[in-house]
Amino acid sequence: MRRLVILGGGTAGTMVANKLRRRLDREQWQVTVVDQNDVHAYQPGFLFVPFGTYQPAQILKSRRKQLSRAVDLVLGEVDRVDPAANTVTLTDGRRLAYDYLVIATGTSPRPDQTPGMLGPQWRKSIFDFYTLDGAAALAAALRDFDGGRFVVHIVDMPIKCPVAPLEFAFLAEAYFRHRGIRDRVELVYATPLPGAFTKPIASAELGAMLDERKIAVEADFMVERIDPDTKTLVSYDEREIPFDLLVTVPLNMGADWVARSGLGDELNYVPVDRHTLLAKGHDNVFALGDASNIPTSKAGSVAHFSVEVFVDNFLAHIDGKPMTGSFDGHTNCFVESGDGQGLLIDFNYDTEPLPGMYPLPGAGPFPLLRESRFNHWGKLAFRWLYWHMLLPGRPVPLPAHMSMAGKHQPATEPDKE
Ligand SMILES: Cc1cc2nc3c(=O)[nH]c(=O)nc-3n(C[C@H](O)[C@H](O)[C@H](O)COP(=O)(O)OP(=O)(O)OC[C@H]3O[C@@H](n4cnc5c(N)ncnc54)[C@H](O)[C@@H]3O)c2cc1C
Repeated sequence: MRRLVILGGGTAGTMVANKLRRRLDREQWQVTVVDQNDVHAYQPGFLFVPFGTYQPAQILKSRRKQLSRAVDLVLGEVDRVDPAANTVTLTDGRRLAYDYLVIATGTSPRPDQTPGMLGPQWRKSIFDFYTLDGAAALAAALRDFDGGRFVVHIVDMPIKCPVAPLEFAFLAEAYFRHRGIRDRVELVYATPLPGAFTKPIASAELGAMLDERKIAVEADFMVERIDPDTKTLVSYDEREIPFDLLVTVPLNMGADWVARSGLGDELNYVPVDRHTLLAKGHDNVFALGDASNIPTSKAGSVAHFSVEVFVDNFLAHIDGKPMTGSFDGHTNCFVESGDGQGLLIDFNYDTEPLPGMYPLPGAGPFPLLRESRFNHWGKLAFRWLYWHMLLPGRPVPLPAHMSMAGKHQPATEPDKE
């Protein structure tokens, strides 16, 4: 028996286990997924929990039930991998041997990495929504918030779903308006980026949307610490942002076991070849989803498109053939913008988000980089697609590679104006 061990049974780990289980001979291959718990959370749903749109129970399912019965699930926490001995050790001492390893342990918010964040104001006036606990605690805080300085903040890049803090700011603005307290709330968006987003055309569009909503942007803000006594964010260049309620996205980091195993960079992301996702310096270790260091967004869509390319490559690789598939960094994300509207962005390693229509040129139905009700419905429909199509590894009629069909370059590029 040859052994494929997949560390992490989240978005990428579940998709790849189910897809490969169908393609690998059951007499010859054992497929095992390791995860620390049996609760699979639909993370894009965390955005809606603070506003009461989803209740936590609506976005949780059993991990075991998302996996093919022919996949073994081991519940336990990975302590370390010994790539020379091809073994995984769990924190309870159990040891698993592998012939091929897929690392899919994702990335997690780390409030412990910013001085003052986990102090006396944590979950009192400082919240996150990148964990389900945080999103649920924030729902109660938002209901009680009656006015003051409301700051949405990102510690540093990269973070998973880099548009999620913007979506949170748009939804919060609409929420305060609908509650009739918008005039009592000063909204600030503090980001380490020079503008609203990483890529110039999208940044100009999303920046204009923040302006229209009178959300002040504090750009290039690199937080050094939070002073819990004065409730102030303090940056390395000594700027200060006071807050009454802070919604922060803590530093995101790959799993600590990656560092303990000598497999990661300074943020515990696994350096890989960006086209094949093979870990650098290894011939039988791959990293998929948020766990790798590929220079595109950390997003479920990336996990999906890259797994499509990876599966055929993997089957060739185990047969000693060259991997001819090349992942292009394809990402697409719906951006919820409040009042039942949303945008969609679609891009890859080389092409930034451009206006146009997706997936069909002209017909769409999803407009790119433009607000539309279709995009809002697409965002909500994505939850069904996730559980019923993506996780089971069923074919989805969206090409894995980004297409230029239906896209156009705007007349003036905002960064060159
Ligand atoms: C608020 C929010 C909104 C988002 N919105 C979108 C969106 O709209 N569109 C989109 O495409 N993406 C979105 N994302 C991002 C998306 O959820 C992630 O990119 C995606 O889940 C990554 O998949 P993954 O398999 O790499 O990691 P995950 O799905 O996070 O899975 C990692 C798994 O590893 C396990 N694990 C970690 N460490 C260990 C260990 N030591 N031992 C054992 N198991 C371990 C975890 O339990 C987890 O199950 C959003 C994320 C958040 C937080």
